[in-house]
Amino acid sequence: MVKNNVQTFEYKAEMKQLLHLIIHSLYTHPEIFLRELVSNASDALNKVKYRMLTDQNILDKDTELAVKITVDSKKKTFSIEDNGIGMNKEDLTENIGIVARSGTLEFLQKMKEEKKQTGDLIGKFGVGFYSVFMVTDQVVIETRHADKDSKGYRWVSSGEASYSIEEIDRKERGTKISFTLKETAHEFAEEFRVKEIIKKYSNFSDFSIFLGKDKINTVEALWRRREKDVKAQERNEFYKFITNDYEDPQSYLHLSIEGAGAEFRALLFIPSKAQFDLMRLHQHKTIQLYSNKIMIMDNCKDLLPEYLQFIRGVVDTSDLPLNVSREMIQSSQVLGKIKDVLTNRIIKWLQELADKETEKYLKFYKSFGPLFKMGLNSDFANREKLIELLRFETSTQKEGEMSSLKDYTKRMPENQKEIYYLSGDNREFAERNPNLEYFKKNNVEVLFLLDPVDVFIMPSIPEYDKKPIKSIDKGDIEINDTADNAGQKEDKLSESLIGLFRETLKDKVEDVKISKRLVDSAVTLVSGKNAADPQLERMMKMMGQDMPSAKRVLEVNIGHSVIKNLSRKYLAGPSDYFLKKCIVQLYESAQLVDGELSSRTEYVKRMMEIMEEATK
Ligand code: ADP
Repeated sequence: MVKNNVQTFEYKAEMKQLLHLIIHSLYTHPEIFLRELVSNASDALNKVKYRMLTDQNILDKDTELAVKITVDSKKKTFSIEDNGIGMNKEDLTENIGIVARSGTLEFLQKMKEEKKQTGDLIGKFGVGFYSVFMVTDQVVIETRHADKDSKGYRWVSSGEASYSIEEIDRKERGTKISFTLKETAHEFAEEFRVKEIIKKYSNFSDFSIFLGKDKINTVEALWRRREKDVKAQERNEFYKFITNDYEDPQSYLHLSIEGAGAEFRALLFIPSKAQFDLMRLHQHKTIQLYSNKIMIMDNCKDLLPEYLQFIRGVVDTSDLPLNVSREMIQSSQVLGKIKDVLTNRIIKWLQELADKETEKYLKFYKSFGPLFKMGLNSDFANREKLIELLRFETSTQKEGEMSSLKDYTKRMPENQKEIYYLSGDNREFAERNPNLEYFKKNNVEVLFLLDPVDVFIMPSIPEYDKKPIKSIDKGDIEINDTADNAGQKEDKLSESLIGLFRETLKDKVEDVKISKRLVDSAVTLVSGKNAADPQLERMMKMMGQDMPSAKRVLEVNIGHSVIKNLSRKYLAGPSDYFLKKCIVQLYESAQLVDGELSSRTEYVKRMMEIMEEATK
């Protein structure tokens, strides 16, 4: 239909349904209309830039390529203009007038029926432009193609049954899209709001984006440059911009990947320090995902395995459409590939830090170790590499110094067949553990597991370099008789005293044994062969997990003077009530050392009775 030079076109039936769906039920985030329009404008600018490489004979060839946004908060109007390639009449009917990709309608309908969030899918189906109908009832496009002999056109639609096209007198190259905002979308007439959205999605656009007179996108997409062309200061600023951190990052990784089934660039950082605690990990942000410099997701957790989610940064790939939903990301093969490549590269990066920049590595390890170590129990493909990256303080090294398992085994004397560890809340606590006495005295190195997470992962590493790894808190370690404890060979007397221990404590312990590991202490509690690490038990309880505590084994140092005295008393009168009282007190003092004593009042009361007896 032609009226005063205005031609009206009916949308096809499918298109009508589609528009109805888009306008009335699909969108969840109206703000994405702005991202879609800016992205279309950048595409158009890129096209003209590309064309100028070979053909300078176009309209306005000397103007700066830019996007201009104008809002009027009183009139509630919005416009976005670019001096990109522009559109001729055919483009308007073919590209804007119809949704080219078939199957779109069925897909969206299905999504609607299943009540999935479809708002984020719009662009995937080439209907990005139509997202503007979320915020307005009528759109005007004025455009002129870059060809010198082109004409200007005005396209108008209310997104229902039809659109119209008329020829206009337009001098400039490019496209202007303008409209009045619906009542529910008045926020987009406010400059601060528009600025916020541009910063969020389009800050790294190649072209200047102006809001009124101000250029509002400020940060360059550094990841697109070559690593050697980026100055450290620029990189740090960039990190601070994307993370809101005020300190520099600990380290960075600049990647440009081709082949390997995925093509992408990435700029990743180890943050200055842990900005989250493990329990609230899900709230913490990780990777921003870009498609050709336009952000498509600002926290794409699916790009990293959980244990590497302390990493911050950006990944930019042209293999993804602008609009992808979370569900699609999860099932996307491209993303799966990127995740694999990232995981491998990050582990390699950490290995290099560990080898060449030990101090930096330890700083990383102290801030993010608790999360990172969890990878051992989830990433089985990389387990061996992760084991090499573990670090521990040890009983023979200075406080604060950390060793790898490799360092430890290098220091092992030839006759030591096992690797030993001991868990504790902190170094001091570990040092005071009676179970360490034998090892200290004989200069046998013991790894200290001071991070609560360690007790979750060590039991899953039964050996390293063919050497069994064992907790010295357990009953089954091999301790050689040395000159020092040779004198503690069981004799008849101590055997029967041990019998009295067993009888007295029969409800409380699994067994009582003569100890080979004690030097200065009289007694200690160790775990039975199959029991869990006591530290682990405590942790589980703290986390509210019901874990029946296994009974433990009491080890007695028969060389200790208190035990010798008890033997003598036993000889004099085996059924002495006082003897039993001392045995219970010894047991409870071992519990006290382990932080497991349940009734301190009972304990103190009994101690008073014993002191009274001793001072009689
Ligand atoms: P998509 O961008 O995914 O192709 P859209 O619905 O957003 O889908 O846009 C449809 C088409 O309209 C674009 O591919 C492009 O050819 C054209 N177009 C949209 N905006 C512009 C613009 N600002 N300048 C030139 N062409 C445009």
